[in-house]
This record gives sequence, structure tokens and C-alpha cells, in this order.
Amino acid sequence: MSELVVEILENCLGNSKKHNTNTCQISFDCPVCYYEIKGLPDGDGKGNLEVNYNFNVFKCWACSETHETHGTIYKLIKEYGNRDLLKKYKLVTPDLIQYHKPDVEKKTIDGLPDGFTPLTIEREEKGYKSAISYLKKRNIGLDIIEKYDIGYCPYGEYGGRIIFPSYDIYGDVNYYSGRSYDKFNKLKYKNPDVSKSEIIFNEGLINWDSNVYLVEGVFDHIVVPNSLPLLGKVISDDLFGKVVKNAECKVIILLDSDAYEDSIKLYKRLNSTKLMGRVLIVKLPNGYDISDIYQRLGKNGVLNVLNTSKKIKESLL
Ligand SMILES: [Zn+2]
Repeated sequence: MSELVVEILENCLGNSKKHNTNTCQISFDCPVCYYEIKGLPDGDGKGNLEVNYNFNVFKCWACSETHETHGTIYKLIKEYGNRDLLKKYKLVTPDLIQYHKPDVEKKTIDGLPDGFTPLTIEREEKGYKSAISYLKKRNIGLDIIEKYDIGYCPYGEYGGRIIFPSYDIYGDVNYYSGRSYDKFNKLKYKNPDVSKSEIIFNEGLINWDSNVYLVEGVFDHIVVPNSLPLLGKVISDDLFGKVVKNAECKVIILLDSDAYEDSIKLYKRLNSTKLMGRVLIVKLPNGYDISDIYQRLGKNGVLNVLNTSKKIKESLL
């Protein structure tokens, strides 16, 4: 059995570096270290990633703390191998069946919520007028409404909310966020019951060959060109991985002023990957987020702020 596991591991990670058949310990170049962090196409010759196929675990000695590169062999093959290798691994290790529990079914959504109505078409309806006037107060006009397909729901579960759809790379809706336009509604935002850590909001609209901005919420996202919202103050592992892998230009962190410490943390993390030297940060004036800037000063105000993005000296971090 162990020869078969070794074969699967080599198919997954390339040739092994060291192999001790007594201890069942085998090492490989770590794909996160050489590819994600250093940007090398095939291996760094360091053999940082150690696997023990007696205990069915792996760990990278260099990056497990920062990049979660540790866990079961099952996880390793799932993340760095492919479906065939995973199938083979399950076949040769049936006794480990309890570790192979199928993942919790990923919840997805089935299109936009009931009653979704685009705001681009003018309507004689109270909800429509309230939604438009709410957006107007935030300086959001038709250009942005059109660009992001913003709509509203006059009725249903999302009734009384402005809906911001998110499109995946295939142009399908994978998420949405509903902002109440009724000031008496205590629940400002309502979102579908899918894990937002697995969603890259409007991934389908991002151009990885241009500077990418990381912002907090949907209102920040729609006023900053080529931005990705974290949907919070902390980046999800999925989004972090995608940014490191795909960003070809600069990555600019633009979180709310009260999240400057989170920004610094994110800066350090991103700057320790292959993006090193291409990460910038914007410090907003106290009490502001970028959508406030847009509300007060419009596009030019935002551009002026974006122009203040800068790197931070390592010694000041
Ligand atoms: Zn590593």
C-alpha cells in the first residue's frame, strides 16, 4: 500500500527529495513555497514539505504557519493534486475511510432573489423611488447602477432592499448582498445563506492584468475601479490565494480607517508572497471609508485618495 501512496504523492508533487522508508517520511518541494511565495515554476530544491505516510500527515517547515500547509495527506492531494489522484488515494487507503468523509455539501444560490427588479428601468413605484433616492444620497448614479446590475426587491424575502449581484467568472450569479433602503429596518444587510468565505465577489469583473484594489464592502467596491470586496475586515483564504496567484500588477489595500491594523497585517502577509514589492496601502482619514469619500467628493475625490497609496518600509512594520 505504501508504494502506491508514494506513487500518488510523486504524481501530485513531483520527485521526492528525501525518503526514509523506515520512518515512512518523505519530502518534496513545497508548491506554496516555490510557486505562490517565490513565483518559481517548478521547484526550489529545498524539500520543505514533509509527508509521513504512516501517520498520513504533511507539513511544510517553512510556510505552514502562514499558509496553512499542514494536515492530512487527503487534504494535500485534494489541494495540490487532481480528482483522479484523490480517487486513487481513497482506493488504496480504504481503512482511512473516516478521514475521507465527503465535504459538507457546498451551498450555492439559484440566481437572484425573488422579485429582483433592475433599477435601470424607471418605474412608478414607491420602492423604486425610495431605492433610487437612497442611492442618490450616497452619490450612486445610473452609470454605476448599470455597470454593476444593481436592482431592488419590491417584495419577498428581500423586499425593501437594494440588491448587489455578484458574478463569477462564467457570468453566473454566485452571491448577492441586500442593503435595506428603509431607515427603520434594523437589519441593514441581508445576504444569502452561503459561506461568503468561498465567494469571490464579482470575480467575473476583475482584470488581473491591472492594479487590483482590496476594499471592505460592496459600497466601496462599486466606487473603486477594479476592486474586490473582502465582505469584512479580514481576507478569506480563498480570496488571498486567488490574489497571490492571479494579480499581475500592483495590489492596493484600501480598508476603512478603523481597520488600519488589519490593513497592515494583510500588507505583511501579501508582501511575503511572490507579490513582494507590488503591495501598497492607503491610509484613509480618520472616520472614513472610501464610499464616504465618493459620496462627498465623487470620482475625483476617490482618484486623489488612490494616488496616496504607498509602500511601507519593512523597518516600520
Ligand atoms: Zn511551504
